[in-house]
Amino acid sequence: MSELVLGKDFFVEVMKDLHDMIEVQRDYLTGLDSDIGDGDHGINLSIGFRAVVEKLEAMDAETEDISSFLRKVGMTLLGKVGGASGPLYGSFFMKAGDDVKGKTEVTFEEFCGMIANGVKAVQTRGKAEIGDKTMIDALVPGIEVLLDEKNKDKDPIEVFTACVEKMKEGAESTIPLVAKKGRAMRLGERAIGHKDPGSESSWMIMEVFLNRLKKL
Ligand code: ADP
Ligand code: MG
Repeated sequence: MSELVLGKDFFVEVMKDLHDMIEVQRDYLTGLDSDIGDGDHGINLSIGFRAVVEKLEAMDAETEDISSFLRKVGMTLLGKVGGASGPLYGSFFMKAGDDVKGKTEVTFEEFCGMIANGVKAVQTRGKAEIGDKTMIDALVPGIEVLLDEKNKDKDPIEVFTACVEKMKEGAESTIPLVAKKGRAMRLGERAIGHKDPGSESSWMIMEVFLNRLKKL
């Protein structure tokens, strides 16, 4: 893959972007969750990323490397968000940097590995499979694109764009499903016809990373 290098500042800026995106999408995501959950998904994410941004300067100053910075972000989400998505996205950020400990910059290939580790952590914590009508339905097809050997020599922006597109399709694919995990499980067949809110927020989160990559 190309020579793209992401410094710690990339990840710090992404946190601000995530906060801004979630403020815009909060009511939309909460609306999706009102259809098949308890109507708080956007609110939960907003609580989480407001807390992250409040502590951002301190978390940046207190950490040397990307991995420890992301760990603090994850711990903040885990600590502040009451819903299922707090621990899930919290685990994502806490574990994303596990293979790049001590690094202050990473290559695009390492970055893809970080996203994959984050998704693995969501799977470990939530135990959802593809087809369970959760964020996994978007996250797993997304990392398959990032880890695909055929994409190894392609332009990073092209690869990451394809990842986000695949994730959008994954989110769409949750519409006809009955939920096997999370609150929507209780609805049984009544969940059919509604998109899973977490699958939608997860591609939106990845699109924020993409837009920041484009600015490098
Ligand atoms: P809560 O369901 O506690 O109100 P949120 O509304 O913030 O929390 O988040 C709901 C989203 O969390 C769902 O749309 C789904 O994508 C995701 N989710 C719930 N349970 C799981 C799980 N076990 N594994 C993966 N994702 C899950
Ligand atoms: Mg909810």
